[in-house]
Amino acid sequence: MPNPEKYVYARKKDIIRSQEKRLRNTLRYVYEKSPFYRRAFKEINIDSIGNAEELEKIPLTTKQDLRKAYPLKMSCVGKEKIVRIQMSGGTTGQPVIIPYTRHDVEQWKEMLLRDFMLAGIGSGDIIQITPAFGLWNGGFGFHFAADAINAFVIPIGAGNTRNQIKFMKDFGTTVLCATASYPLRIAEVAEEMGIDVSQLGVEKLLLGAEPWSEEMRKVIEEVFDATAFDIPGLTEMGGVGTIGFECPKRNGIHIWEDNYIVEIVDPETGERVADGEEGEVVYTSINREAMPVIRYRSGEISAVVSRERCECGIEHMTIRRIKGRTDDMVIYKGVKFYPSDIERILFSHGVTNYRIEVGNGIKIVYEGDETALNQIRKDIREFVGFSPRMEAVRFGELERFEGKAKRLVRVQEG
Ligand SMILES: [Zn+2]
Repeated sequence: MPNPEKYVYARKKDIIRSQEKRLRNTLRYVYEKSPFYRRAFKEINIDSIGNAEELEKIPLTTKQDLRKAYPLKMSCVGKEKIVRIQMSGGTTGQPVIIPYTRHDVEQWKEMLLRDFMLAGIGSGDIIQITPAFGLWNGGFGFHFAADAINAFVIPIGAGNTRNQIKFMKDFGTTVLCATASYPLRIAEVAEEMGIDVSQLGVEKLLLGAEPWSEEMRKVIEEVFDATAFDIPGLTEMGGVGTIGFECPKRNGIHIWEDNYIVEIVDPETGERVADGEEGEVVYTSINREAMPVIRYRSGEISAVVSRERCECGIEHMTIRRIKGRTDDMVIYKGVKFYPSDIERILFSHGVTNYRIEVGNGIKIVYEGDETALNQIRKDIREFVGFSPRMEAVRFGELERFEGKAKRLVRVQEG
């Protein structure tokens, strides 16, 4: 097994050398193996593209392209080389299918082993995996890496929160892998069961699959008396934990640049934006076999923090933690915002359950004290830029989620 430390702390020149070599190989490879890319690249001399900068000459790939490729039209290998598939995509329309060869499963595992190393997760850990085992990528991704380090794995999968807590208690779970909103649901149910989650012995939480704010992290870390890490990743790039991991000094996400190229573009024009400027993340996978994806528009919103060596010693580039998704962006009276902008403010007032209703203006319904209402509205006006309608409801009145939380509701305007 490759030593993750060697790659995590590689020198920039070695990272870039490896990146450029893999980029050239990948472009040539998809051009030869995939009719989709041969068509997309027909006006381009791909041999003239040898680094991340020059990648801009290539058109962007969209989720719609991947949908149209159902079931395996974008695959660069025949079925005999495919060892599994995972699925991405919304609840409507054609699913997006990502095939994996043995190499790809190994690559997935390798990226997660880097993440585990940075989080200090080892063979002595008891790892409870709460994302589903199935076509969605979460469960298996964590499993491959946890299994590889010979940790004690609890592959419990999604749902049944009371059972999750019982297992955490009875087996002494030290690492909890989950969607970002799930730990607080666990804490809530534990309280009903008369259990204080801070006493359970969970030391680390690996949280992903949805954007979550620093304010939410603060609450989770306090409630669990543990450290919460942001683990990004998307099926199109191979799944959870593949693209990078959170900086140990919390300066953002370090992208594994020897495996992925990240660009930030203007979501409207598709043009690159300057470092530091917010935009949509575009990913290129350069170390995958069944279905490398070139310049994929992820819908995620972030910005480049730095391309230089980080104070933590890592020389892979740094981007901001994902703030939201282009689909979740709301424009109201000329003000652009993401649910996470509201979440930050609500969490800072101790509110952890809420719903944002868009349409007929904007209304925020939250569980909690009415006395905080005016101050919350004032903070939203000051920090986000508009004044929403607000309603405080009793604790327990809003819907609870065991997977990704659906906090944003678009209601019919009328
Ligand atoms: Zn760092």
